[in-house]
Amino acid sequence: MRTIEAIQPQDCTPSNGKLSIVIPLFNEAEMIPHLFLRLEKITQLIELKTEVILVDDGSNDNSWLEICNYSPANFDLNAITLSRNFGKEAALSSGLQAVNSDVVIILDADCQDPPELIPQMLQAWSNGAEVVNMKRRSRQGETWLKRKTARLYYRLLGVLSETPIPENVGDFRLLSRRVVDEINRMGERNLYMKGILSWPGFHQNTIGYEREARVAGSTKWSYWRLVLLAISGITAFSNKPLRLASWMGAIVAMSSFAYAMWVMLRTLIFGDPVSGYPSMMIVILFIGGIQLITIGILGEYVGRIFTEVKGRPNYIIREIHTKPAKAQTKNQQHPASI
Ligand code: UDP
Ligand code: MG
Repeated sequence: MRTIEAIQPQDCTPSNGKLSIVIPLFNEAEMIPHLFLRLEKITQLIELKTEVILVDDGSNDNSWLEICNYSPANFDLNAITLSRNFGKEAALSSGLQAVNSDVVIILDADCQDPPELIPQMLQAWSNGAEVVNMKRRSRQGETWLKRKTARLYYRLLGVLSETPIPENVGDFRLLSRRVVDEINRMGERNLYMKGILSWPGFHQNTIGYEREARVAGSTKWSYWRLVLLAISGITAFSNKPLRLASWMGAIVAMSSFAYAMWVMLRTLIFGDPVSGYPSMMIVILFIGGIQLITIGILGEYVGRIFTEVKGRPNYIIREIHTKPAKAQTKNQQHPASI
């Protein structure tokens, strides 16, 4: 077993005063010129040397071409393309693995997370925060149903999750290198990034912001995909549904016992030849339903154990493309100067 003294020196990445902006994207060709424009404007104002890590999550439009044809002026461009669409969570994970800097900011490619807030996030970091959570004050461009279900889901997750997962905070965050190193060590296959990014803890700071509507293109998340993500979040961060299944079983067993007693007594006292078909059907269907729900809950966990045990990689990289900034003369020595 390694002692704390033995762990610290070799696991701490040396400081290089660099910022990485990690952006997963899927079929965002229309968005890319606008994204680069906004990134150029903001990185010009930041003193830190900046690299932008774009992860093309197996797009089948011109996204990769747009990325490769671009020559950045104010940031180094490191782009990764995956062998197919692995989902945003996996794309983000591959971006975090590629990070080589002191501080990391995660953005969406559709500019719903405004890059203009980066200096404010860096300010919080230089004041000592190791994680800066960007909390959505409003959700423009989202339907009433999505807003309400999101609210309900965060409440449910808050009750169920053993790790505190902040409400209305997506993947738009700043993470210090230490936090990213811990996340990269986790090696989970069932990726639920909102939970994974919150799990390491560390000194947190929260900044509220107005979430803009998409500039171009459309959301890649259907309601069904969101439901699957929601289930994945609950099962990855809580064992309470399993406990709920046991409690449901216990309550049903106890009430069936009480009902059986009552039926027995009634038959002994009053005699009851053949009636009772409707009540019997109700009981059978009710217990059958509870059993199926319980098996379903078990199945969700067993399926996830299966995924973990197979140990397949979360993503496969097809190609890497790097292009340094045309002229970066930025400070690499003083992370606090932003
Ligand atoms: N995205 C991805 N892989 C996917 C789906 C989405 O990398 O399979 C990216 C997408 O390009 C965007 C970000 O994840 O940069 C957020 O997606 P989107 O805007 O569709 O989600 P929403 O903002 O509607 O929740
Ligand atoms: Mg979006």
